[in-house]
Amino acid sequence: KLGSEDYSSQPVDKLLNGLLVPGFDEQSCLSRYQSASYHKYSSSHVPSSYLLSRLRRYEDLHKRCGPYTKLYNKTVELLKSGQASGPTECSYIVWVSFSGLGNRILTLASAFLYALLTNRVLLVDGGNDIADLFCEPFPEKSWLLPKDFPVMNQFKSFDQNSSHCYGNLLKNNIINHSKESLPSFLYLHLVHDYGDHDKLFFCDQEQALLGKVPWLIMKTDNYFVPSLFLIPSFEQELGNLFPEKGNVFHHLGRYLFHPTNEVWGLITRYYQAYLANADERIGIQIRVFDIGTETFPHVMDQILACTLQNKLLPQVNVHEPVIALPRNQKTKAVLITSLYPGYSENLRKMYWEHPTVTGEVIRIYQPSHEEHQQTEKQMHNLKAWAEIYLLSLTDYLVTSSWSTFGYVAQGLAGINPLILYKPENRMAPDPPCRWGMSMEPCFHAPPFYDCKAKKGVDTGSVVPYVRHCEDMKWGLKLV
Ligand code: GDP
Repeated sequence: KLGSEDYSSQPVDKLLNGLLVPGFDEQSCLSRYQSASYHKYSSSHVPSSYLLSRLRRYEDLHKRCGPYTKLYNKTVELLKSGQASGPTECSYIVWVSFSGLGNRILTLASAFLYALLTNRVLLVDGGNDIADLFCEPFPEKSWLLPKDFPVMNQFKSFDQNSSHCYGNLLKNNIINHSKESLPSFLYLHLVHDYGDHDKLFFCDQEQALLGKVPWLIMKTDNYFVPSLFLIPSFEQELGNLFPEKGNVFHHLGRYLFHPTNEVWGLITRYYQAYLANADERIGIQIRVFDIGTETFPHVMDQILACTLQNKLLPQVNVHEPVIALPRNQKTKAVLITSLYPGYSENLRKMYWEHPTVTGEVIRIYQPSHEEHQQTEKQMHNLKAWAEIYLLSLTDYLVTSSWSTFGYVAQGLAGINPLILYKPENRMAPDPPCRWGMSMEPCFHAPPFYDCKAKKGVDTGSVVPYVRHCEDMKWGLKLV
């Protein structure tokens, strides 16, 4: 159990087994070194020493090539000239902000891993939004793309058909392996609606070509990491970085995403007020993709069936008004996140009106009910990030199918969740949920292509550690 008062007296490993480096100013980003006091990370998920050495190497690279360094300025000049002229000392992957918060966190982690694998520097476009949500992850030099970056005003218009889109250039044979001159930048379209030519990104041959282009600008809404594990030239490096495949996001996420002080205030105040003193904390993330804002009875039934069958929550006795309480009453705090208030109201009512058969005390909390997704509004995003993070501070997680919001929470927590199946035809699925194979996020729009054989293949059955997801049968996840 943790309250703020025992924070300083706990011998916690605030650097997370070497994932983080000391030396950052603590006050400007309190979460960075305090998060270990709130999480109960399992000792079975320790980063490999190779990952740690690669992170340190990346940090050095970022210092040398980050915004407004000599080498950055030099490579920007190249961008203005339009042509790539042989290898550059620094090359970059620019991540363009796109889609909901959960998606953005997953794609940032994907882009960072791609940067590690290709010795690129990750720069992040996202204006104030990103800076309001996340602290700087790398020492000394910012990860934010400078506002005077030459082609920034084109980012919004980049799509599948843009003249700089790699897939488009391949399709029209404007770019190929025999071409002498390459452009100084390319746009990579890895959004769920991408086409077959865009998907060639996941082929070795195309990677070799992309390696010669100093600036890659990427728009994606998918956790594409599982498919990186299927690219032969990355295989060995990824095996060294992640000997256990099922915790890639757990490590990358804890390395990259530190809530700013504003968000950290939302997180810690809520945690201390409602969660810290419980014997057990359970997070239930409810994301309903059906249209309508009402509380759906089939979703309510499903949540109850899942949590009761798996003994996360106790049954109630509807026949007795009172039952004798055991001497040591256990308290379970349930954190519910949802855009709507109804599900937690129902649960709270149930545990008020009837006693639990175990005598356990059940407290139900829901930080907000924002009703609508509003990706552009700042306080909405701060709250969404705080809620994702609060979910990651629980002991057990129940998550919703298809939702990246839940994927981030389970990954940061290091918890393999109970996944609620996606309801079909407004009926509670039976069984209501299942345990995940791993805590990894699901890649919702993977390619099904064998680059060598040049034909379709089931990429979910090529290697044992890349499988189809529990919640989306065509998706891919690491296990
Ligand atoms: P996904 O759509 O479930 O994959 O998750 P995303 O995070 O990418 O997009 C959903 C967006 O809707 C979030 O970023 C929030 O803005 C909002 N949202 C969805 N569920 C919740 C919730 O439980 N709490 C809050 N505060 N916002 C939510």
